[in-house]
Amino acid sequence: MSLKDDLKALIEAGGPLPVSAYMNACLHDPKHGYYATRPGIGRDFITAPEISQVFGELLGLWALHEWQAMGAPAPSRLVEIGGGRGAMMADMLRAVGRARGGEALSVAMSEASPVHAEQQKQALSAFHPDFLGAFQSLGDAPFILIANEWLDCLPARQFLKGQADWHEKVVGLDEAGELAFGLAADKASDAPSGAGEEAAEIQPALETLVDVLKDAFEAVPGRALFIDYGPVNHVPGDTLRAFYKGEQVDPLAMPGVSDLTVDVDFGRLARLAGKAGLGVAGPVEQGAFLMSLGAEARMQALIKANPDRAEAIHDGVRRLVDPAEMGRRFKVICLSAPGLPAPAGF
Ligand code: SAH
Repeated sequence: MSLKDDLKALIEAGGPLPVSAYMNACLHDPKHGYYATRPGIGRDFITAPEISQVFGELLGLWALHEWQAMGAPAPSRLVEIGGGRGAMMADMLRAVGRARGGEALSVAMSEASPVHAEQQKQALSAFHPDFLGAFQSLGDAPFILIANEWLDCLPARQFLKGQADWHEKVVGLDEAGELAFGLAADKASDAPSGAGEEAAEIQPALETLVDVLKDAFEAVPGRALFIDYGPVNHVPGDTLRAFYKGEQVDPLAMPGVSDLTVDVDFGRLARLAGKAGLGVAGPVEQGAFLMSLGAEARMQALIKANPDRAEAIHDGVRRLVDPAEMGRRFKVICLSAPGLPAPAGF
């Protein structure tokens, strides 16, 4: 049985699924889910740390700087959520390792995918990372947390405005018995308030995330930096997209086989964090953030040390910062324990 068959049987028996439940099954079903069984970084999509080592190196130095600005508490943790193949953390640690004091930071990875966890174990074997499992547990030491392209795979509920009321979008079956989008008959009681548009999307886990950080910051100081794509000043509409081998495909066509992603509502994340009393810096554009951390100087140093790779190094960094590529579309937000000074780069 494929995940598609499983989902059809599930819907047949129990009725349509909210889009968030569909997304969750597609990504995390233990037997057939995309991340659980066949994650495809580098095949279905490509991420910043896989494009240029400069990304992780700059973030490593940022993390070190922020840890020092907290008074260099020891022991402390460098935490990554959704670390993919481990490239970013490996680059971060290489950069941190050269600086004094970096040894006091231990490494913890929060990873949902057993396949990625195994890749991370190998990529980071020299650093003996802890594996924290789901992001609900951040441990009890001061921490600097970083997550790149993790927020966009947190499942989203979708709502559409009918004649007058909001209805939740669901995945059901059409007359031929194939997966098809529909609308829940009942009006949605928890649709996004104030959303003026015809479609709206909410990632419930953003609330959980802010709660987890708030709880953690009641016990220890720390910061959490998130990098992803999404709007700052409006609620995302219908942004669910699927990718397979670099091509965008129908999100219902290949459940568990294609990657699924949504835009992150950075405005909402900032508001939730602000309301919870956390320090909020950003969101700012990735290009500006990386330039202010010294992307240009780091690129020049790399080129000087590797003149035969000059073009590839330059091209990689350009893709990260160029407003026409990832520089503007990707945003960076930093949520901090109350009372810490403003973080670097904002
Ligand atoms: N940060 C990496 C990988 C991005 S892909 C990079 O930039 O290359 C998304 C990552 O988040 C994968 O490692 C995936 O397994 C992980 N992930 C998805 N949902 C998760 C969850 N709920 N908890 C922890 N990790 C999750």
